[in-house]
Amino acid sequence: MQSIFRDIQLSSLSTLVFALGAASIVSLYDLGATLLYSDLDKYGWEYLGFSFVVVLILQDAYFYFIHRLFHHPSLFRCFHRGHHRSGDPTPWTSFAFDLPEAIFQSLFLIVIVFIIPLHFLTIIAVLMAMTVWTVWNHLGFELFPASFPHHWFTKWFIGPTHHSLHHRKYTVHYGLYFTFWDKLLGTQDPQYENEFDSALRRDST
Ligand SMILES: [Zn+2]
Ligand SMILES: [Zn+2]
Repeated sequence: MQSIFRDIQLSSLSTLVFALGAASIVSLYDLGATLLYSDLDKYGWEYLGFSFVVVLILQDAYFYFIHRLFHHPSLFRCFHRGHHRSGDPTPWTSFAFDLPEAIFQSLFLIVIVFIIPLHFLTIIAVLMAMTVWTVWNHLGFELFPASFPHHWFTKWFIGPTHHSLHHRKYTVHYGLYFTFWDKLLGTQDPQYENEFDSALRRDST
């Protein structure tokens, strides 16, 4: 209970930082400084889906590398300890970030609107996907089917067991949406598939 209360405190702080980030993006748009656009015909409907996927891929890469950096012993205490305080994650842990980490998290979208043309709908879809995916990954129990970590397509996606292993072991699973960088850079836990099977057995009893 104590740790949930602490997670809520940190989440409130992060929400404030993200709201300031969103306000900055709108102000920059008003100044005409960004590549954001509101006319759907400007790049077509296909581009909405394409840019959505591109942003998720870039955000996942950004998150992987800053997350791994924040686990460096000289940075962990200041940047990332808050997110790991509760041990086993709960949905309250999803956005429990220390102030410096929350700032770095929000910087991604503030910078990306200068690099890639994005419709407002795409930004909203990214924020919704990020919120749902992050809460899902912090459920602390598994809801995906037994085939999830083995199937040729779904094995590239992060789920609750995958991220819970990060909270337990610290040295594996730094990604946000996809297992790509963990697999490529050797931070995918070789025990993941076994852990997934035993999580399903544990959660179904
Ligand atoms: Zn987490
Ligand atoms: Zn971490």
